[in-house]
Amino acid sequence: MPQKIICKHCGAVLYDGTDLKPPDEIAQKHNGKCPKCGRKLSLIPIDVEVKPAK
Ligand SMILES: [Zn+2]
Repeated sequence: MPQKIICKHCGAVLYDGTDLKPPDEIAQKHNGKCPKCGRKLSLIPIDVEVKPAK
């Protein structure tokens, strides 16, 4: 099932694909920051939204 990981601050799509990835891995890929709004992606409490892509 496709998955989307979205920055809760600005709505940037950080990951969109068919592989299920843990949000912390995605955050690490972006050096722990949202590439769009530059906010730190803190994972506890979780700061990204994981949705099945339609
Ligand atoms: Zn953002």
